[in-house]
Amino acid sequence: MVLARTVRAFLAQPGIDAVQVVVGEGDADQYGAAVEGLDRSQLLPPVYGGLTRQASVHNGLEALKAYMPDRVLIHDAVRPFVTGDIIARVLEALAQAPGAIAAMPVADTLKQAGAERRIAATLDRSQVWRAQTPQGFRFPEILAAHDAAQAAGIAMTDDAAIAEWAGLPVTLVMGAERNRKLTTAEDLAMADDAHIPEMRVGQGFDVHRFAPGDHVWLCGVKLAHTHALQGHSDADVALHALTDALLGAIGAGDIGQHFPDTDVRWKGAPSRLFLEEALRLVRAHGGSIGNVDVTILCETPKIAPHRAAMRRRIAEILGLEEVRVSIKATTTEGLGFTGRREGIAALATATVVLR
Ligand code: MG
Repeated sequence: MVLARTVRAFLAQPGIDAVQVVVGEGDADQYGAAVEGLDRSQLLPPVYGGLTRQASVHNGLEALKAYMPDRVLIHDAVRPFVTGDIIARVLEALAQAPGAIAAMPVADTLKQAGAERRIAATLDRSQVWRAQTPQGFRFPEILAAHDAAQAAGIAMTDDAAIAEWAGLPVTLVMGAERNRKLTTAEDLAMADDAHIPEMRVGQGFDVHRFAPGDHVWLCGVKLAHTHALQGHSDADVALHALTDALLGAIGAGDIGQHFPDTDVRWKGAPSRLFLEEALRLVRAHGGSIGNVDVTILCETPKIAPHRAAMRRRIAEILGLEEVRVSIKATTTEGLGFTGRREGIAALATATVVLR
């Protein structure tokens, strides 16, 4: 989500102590969905905005009064491509001036329109900049300026204008073209085109030995068999390998760290729970699963008759279309522990797309 990207850019920036989001009344659920998985330790509970941008910013500043920060950066949530460099430049300039904003010099020649859109004049663009955000200020000063503007009924389109009106000097620092404000459908389409998603790959491997019993769990499907697989949980070796592949793709450790076999909670647990947790973590990292590919290594049971059910089950657990799920099986030609029918091994690969 656009908001998640924007908030993440600030949370990741050194020198930022807290982020206060201002949302529309009634958007609390969407806000919750957007920030799910973000580090909440520096994210303050959202506050509601007003009818105008100015009123919304004012509410945000009011909420920050409780923390009395030295400085505040005010940013449009719809500028998700803000970079750490831009944020750092604004903060740096704030050391010298009460206000500093990101902005861009104008590259196009500026025309003043007269009657019937006839050009009345060509303007000097060398002095003209386009204002972006973040716009940074010393907190007590911008709060006072907003209070005064509200009391005077002054309406402005950005915070620098309010600072100027209040007589605070504001410095321009270089923004970036990519720090675009997503305003129209065209902006959104351009942003999508410009954004190359990051692809991650994870692998997983697991083995469980046979023990006395009459069924095995494989890929979340219960198969009648001459033996069971031994394990702390339901010993679904394929789901364990797949869980590790997903955790691997996001660098989130392995199944043993998340579900230690010393924990009684996982005794006899359905391995679906492990896979669901891995999926939750993938989503929390801003990822979505591209595809998963599982290979089961065993002499028995025969996998082919159950392959369709296994595929369906994994697709269901992961919320994926079946074309994104592959189940393969092979014997090891009688060689090794799987060949001697001492147990089952499974390999898995997963791709995760980070947006
Ligand atoms: Mg295992």
